[in-house]
Formats: sequence, C-alpha cells, structure tokens
Amino acid sequence: MLIEQPPKLYRWLFPGAIWRKPVEGKKTVYLTFDDGPIPEITPWVLDVLDKYDVKATFFCVGDNVHKYPDIYKMVLDRGHQVGNHTFNHIQGIRKFSKRYLHNTMLASRHIESNLFRPPHGHMRISQFFTLRRKYQIVMWDVVTRDYSKRMTPEQVLDNVKKYTRDGSVIVFHDSLKAEKNMKYAMPRSIEWLKEQGYTFELI
Ligand SMILES: [Zn+2]
Repeated sequence: MLIEQPPKLYRWLFPGAIWRKPVEGKKTVYLTFDDGPIPEITPWVLDVLDKYDVKATFFCVGDNVHKYPDIYKMVLDRGHQVGNHTFNHIQGIRKFSKRYLHNTMLASRHIESNLFRPPHGHMRISQFFTLRRKYQIVMWDVVTRDYSKRMTPEQVLDNVKKYTRDGSVIVFHDSLKAEKNMKYAMPRSIEWLKEQGYTFELI
C-alpha cells in the first residue's frame, strides 16, 4: 500500500517549514532518522551510513540522549547533524502549548541544534509559531512508513522509489518499531538513490 505524501493544505499551515529543499544544479536528497538515539539500532545505522559515505540528520528524543549520551556522541563524532524531537516524543495537538514548549526546551538542554521536527508531524499552529522563532522547523516529503506493521520491507523501499524527487527530505526511524523494515529498506534506498545520481546533504 502506497500512501499520499503531505497534502498542500497541510504545508500551507506551517509556513517556512522545510518539506523539500532542492539545490540548483545539484540532485540532492536529505536522509533523516527520527526517535533515537538507542544502542540497539543507532550504531547499526551509523555503520551503514559510513559504509556508503553518507551524512544524515538525526531528530533525537531528549530522553534517549539523556539515557544514552555515548550513542548521541557517536552520531556527532561521525559527522552527522542532530535536531530536537522533544524530550518525551509528545504530540503537540494533545498537549497544552506550555507543556509542549517546556518539553522541547527540556530536550534542548541535551540537544544542541536549531532544527526541530514535531513528533507525528503535527502540532498546534500556536506552538509552531512560537517554536519557529528559535528553530528551523523540518518536516519531510517522503515518509517511508518504516514503523508500520502493515508495511512490508519491500513496500517501504518502494515508497522511497516512488516519492523521492529532487530535494526530498526522507524519513526513516532508528527505533525498535521500525527495525525490520528500516534495516531492509534503508541501505537499499541509499544504493538506489546513488544509482539515480542523488547526492546526500545535511539540512
Ligand atoms: Zn518521532
């Protein structure tokens, strides 16, 4: 099952957020990993990225960084970029803004970055406008659905092949939930993207 990528209306709600970032004269993509860092998955991802000489952006959960500072340090030491993904992976529209912003600020004590990605890809408009003052908000245009039990590893790879275009921001997860799909689809996606002539950039 292939899914629709973010509809126009949704993009219109969050002005200034990055969904795609084409660079003139260059065929680029941006690989991003959400929800880590965790010892079970993140080091494996880092080894794959090293093997293909690819740099990526990791949207980290503050609580994971707090629990696994060594894994977080590994991400930075290997030349990758990090972003804030709140402290407890909370959903903006289910929380009062004060609590949401506080949770994000808590994460910022552990994650030094001016990038923010809201968990589940949504937040209240007021939360967006407050966070926009301090952060570049980074969404995506290719969600692989690697975390979904309803997706097969092959379908996850197909999502990358079907939806990626110049400047795409692609989301994988360095999480236990996504492990099976991501471990299959991520390296194959990199190989396919390289064959298509894409270069990998940091946001
Ligand atoms: Zn997330």
